[in-house]
Amino acid sequence: MDPKIKFSIYDEPGELRALRQQVRDFVKVEQDAGRISPSPNGYAEIDPQFSRALGERGWIGMTWPKQYGGHERSALERFVVTEELLAAGAPVRAHWIADRQSGPLLLKFGTEGQRREYLPRIARGECYFCIGMSEADSGSDLASIRTKAEKAPGGWRVNGSKMWTSNAHRVHMMILFARTGPRGESRREGVSQFVVDLSAPGITIRPIVNLTGEHDFNEVIFEDVFLPDDCVIGTIGEGWKQVTDELVYERSGPDRWLSTYHVLTGMVEKLQDYPSDRRRSEIARLVTRLWAQHQMSFSIAGMLEKGQVPNTEAALVKDLGTRFEQDIPQIARELFPQELRLEFEDELFNESLRFATLYAPAYSIRGGSKEILRGIIARSLGLR
Ligand SMILES: Cc1cc2nc3c(=O)[nH]c(=O)nc-3n(C[C@H](O)[C@H](O)[C@H](O)COP(=O)(O)OP(=O)(O)OC[C@H]3O[C@@H](n4cnc5c(N)ncnc54)[C@H](O)[C@@H]3O)c2cc1C
Repeated sequence: MDPKIKFSIYDEPGELRALRQQVRDFVKVEQDAGRISPSPNGYAEIDPQFSRALGERGWIGMTWPKQYGGHERSALERFVVTEELLAAGAPVRAHWIADRQSGPLLLKFGTEGQRREYLPRIARGECYFCIGMSEADSGSDLASIRTKAEKAPGGWRVNGSKMWTSNAHRVHMMILFARTGPRGESRREGVSQFVVDLSAPGITIRPIVNLTGEHDFNEVIFEDVFLPDDCVIGTIGEGWKQVTDELVYERSGPDRWLSTYHVLTGMVEKLQDYPSDRRRSEIARLVTRLWAQHQMSFSIAGMLEKGQVPNTEAALVKDLGTRFEQDIPQIARELFPQELRLEFEDELFNESLRFATLYAPAYSIRGGSKEILRGIIARSLGLR
C-alpha cells in the first residue's frame, strides 16, 4: 500500500556539515563582537543590521535564482543555515517572513516586475514582509475573510481589517489575502493576493499587546486603500491555491520546533550543577524528540527541493513541533521548580522560562491551530 504520509531519512553529506560549521563560526564571531547577545525570546529579536549582514553572506533568499538576487543553493542548504541560526538564538526576525514565505510566493506566482522589485531587496536583508491572512472572525476558517478588494480604474480599492498581524508595525510590506469576488460553492473561489506597501494612505496599524506584555502583533485597518493593478499576485480569484502553497513554507521549518530550544539547552547546562536521574531521563527524552523533529523537517526540505508541496507532512511537523516547544517550558518548571530557580545566579534561564511559559499557548495557534492541522492530517489518511 502506498503510504499517505512520507518522510525520508537523509544522511547529512559532508558539504552540509561544512556549511553548518560556517554558520556556527559566523555566529561565534558576531557574539564575541557583542553584535548579538542571548535573549529570553530566543530567535525572535529584530535586528536589521544583522539581517543585512546575513544578506551580505548570501544566507537570505538562498534558493532563489541569481537573477533575482538569490544564490541558487539547495533547500537542504537553506535548512541547515536557518536551523543553526535559530538554535543559536540569532536575531533573524526582521527578514524572517520575507525569506521564508513572501519571497518564495512572489517567485512562484508574482509578476516579473514584482520579482525584480522585491526579491533582490529581500535577499540583501533590506525589505521585510508580514502576513495579512487572519481577520477577527476568520482565522481557522480562512475562506470566510471579509476584507474586500473591489475593482477600480487602474487598480483595486481595499476595505476591511486584518488581525494578529505579526510585526506589521516594523516591516515594509504585507501579502494581503482579500475577497475579490463571490465565494462560490466551495467558498474558496473569489479570493486573491496582493502585495501592499504598508505606508500607503488609508492604512492604520493598531497595536495588540500579548500576554508577555509585548507589542508583537497588530490590527491592520484598510480604509479605501488604492492598490494599482501591478500589486496583484498571480491570478485574480485563485488566491486559495496560492495561500495554501504558502502555508507549507510557514508550517514545516525549524522555526516551528525551536522557539524554546534555548530553554532546553539551559536545562542541559543546569543539569551539571543539579544532577538527578529524573532530570537526566526527562531531558534525554526531549533531546530524542528534538532529533525526530529535525529529521522530519529536514525531509520536508528535501521534498521542497524536488518541487513537491508536502501539505500533510508540513501539518504533522508543525503539530508535533509546537507540542514539543510547549512541553519544554512545562517540563523545565517541573524539573527546576521555583524554589530551586531562586538559587540560579544567571537570570537568563529564569527570564527565558518566564517568557516561554507566557508565550507557549501561541505556538499551537499561530500558523494554523493544532485542531486544524490534525483535521488536514486526518483527511489525508482518509479518516474524515
Ligand atoms: C502569536 C501569533 C501570531 C500570529 N501572526 C499572524 C500573522 O502574522 N498573520 C496572520 O494572518 N495571522 C496571524 N495569527 C493568527 C493565527 O493564524 C490565527 O490565530 C489562527 O489561525 C487561529 O484562528 P483564530 O484565532 O481566529 O481562532 P479560531 O479559528 O476562532 O479558533 C478557535 C479555536 O477553535 C478551534 N477550531 C476552529 N475551527 C475548528 C474546526 N473546524 N475543527 C476543530 N476545531 C476548530 C481552533 O483550533 C481553536 O482552538 C497569529 C496568531 C498568533 C497567536
